[in-house]
Amino acid sequence: YAPLSEIDPEVQNIIDKETWRQFSGLELIASENLTSRAAIEANGSILTNKYSEGLPGARYYGGNEWIDELEILCRKRALQAFNLDPEKWGVNVQPYSGSTANFAALTALIQPQDRLMGLGLPDGGHLTHGYYTAKKKMTASSIYFQSFPYGLDPSTQLVDYAALDRQAKIFKPRLIICGASAYPRDWDYAALKAICDRESAYLMADIAHTSGLIAAQELNNPFAYCDVVTTTTHKTLRGPRAGLIFFRRDAQNNLDLEKRVNEAVFPACQGGPHNHAIASVATSLFQVSQPEWKQYARQVIANAKTLATCLIERGYKLQTGGTDTHLVLWDLRPLGLTGSKIEKVCDLLGITINKNAVSGDASAQTPGGIRLGTAALTSRDMVEEDIKVVAEFLHRAVQLSLVLQKEAGSKMLKDFIRVATTEREGKVGAKMV
Ligand code: PLP
Repeated sequence: YAPLSEIDPEVQNIIDKETWRQFSGLELIASENLTSRAAIEANGSILTNKYSEGLPGARYYGGNEWIDELEILCRKRALQAFNLDPEKWGVNVQPYSGSTANFAALTALIQPQDRLMGLGLPDGGHLTHGYYTAKKKMTASSIYFQSFPYGLDPSTQLVDYAALDRQAKIFKPRLIICGASAYPRDWDYAALKAICDRESAYLMADIAHTSGLIAAQELNNPFAYCDVVTTTTHKTLRGPRAGLIFFRRDAQNNLDLEKRVNEAVFPACQGGPHNHAIASVATSLFQVSQPEWKQYARQVIANAKTLATCLIERGYKLQTGGTDTHLVLWDLRPLGLTGSKIEKVCDLLGITINKNAVSGDASAQTPGGIRLGTAALTSRDMVEEDIKVVAEFLHRAVQLSLVLQKEAGSKMLKDFIRVATTEREGKVGAKMV
């Protein structure tokens, strides 16, 4: 029963350094958040000791009385958090993460080699939505299914629903996935549903990024139109790393997906559930159901809009010219800077962001943009006035990069980044001063 610091000071030390990084810097990665102490406690609990393959009341292991109670509670809270009628919707809370939730959902809905359409990765879609390159099918969703990407209207950078409609007529997908990793605007679920109805295709929404905002009813409601909705639990939902699959229980329309989804999660794609994570998800969903959550979600969006406005006021270009969500996609190409350079300079300055493709990028390896999100800073109680300061810091980081690039050529910028990176790895220490 000795504590971690005694048994393994090396790992404790790494955790301490990462804790310092998370709380001394500015966390602007759109897919991250700072989960609550209560959720972290549940996630670090002895529930990790327990095997519980199967479902509540039907397990392959003994000793699951309390685990059954936990999973039932988590399901109840998941449905409550999204205001869903348990007669019409069910949820599987066992997916280990978003990718496994998505693959299990595809396994439940369609057959191997069936056709699916998802938003292309360079346009903001996720790997698990059927991504492949000209050279390789490198994701399970393109290896085991035939996929075709839909995209953005180049003039507005909004999802091109009319083009998707035309493509679906030709490609005849069995399933369309909506939702994205880097798309700052809300979705037109009604338009997607109309296309799916015509093609007799399933509509699946992956709301990983926006689920915390959807739970607060601050964005359009995918549950009104979709057959299946998946989400991660660790982005705007502010829980631990895990996934959820919501499915319709509409037996009348032959859409009773419960058995198919449950069997796709276990045994098709997973083994024993991570009960510590399920406990932590349950705690986070409890927090999502509290009245304060709405205020949090509103503030996340208000902060993202403020960030967008501040950057536009300074003359920068944003994809779609703004945001409806927690996410801002900044197109750096007019400045002649790549996303990876700014990411590294910001890292040095204690601002954590990530490079990201922007619409029309030639290469996904050297993307021309960065993705910013306000969920984590809002969890630290930041409001619009704070975000204006953050925008100023980002502006200075970009200006610093431009100066370095302009005055000394890109070699100096590269050297600056190399030294900064080495310093972060603790190899040159004092040289950076
Ligand atoms: N779906 C979307 C839209 C995502 O953005 C992500 C991750 O960023 C995932 C799924 C995958 O989630 P995970 O990394 O938990 O597997």
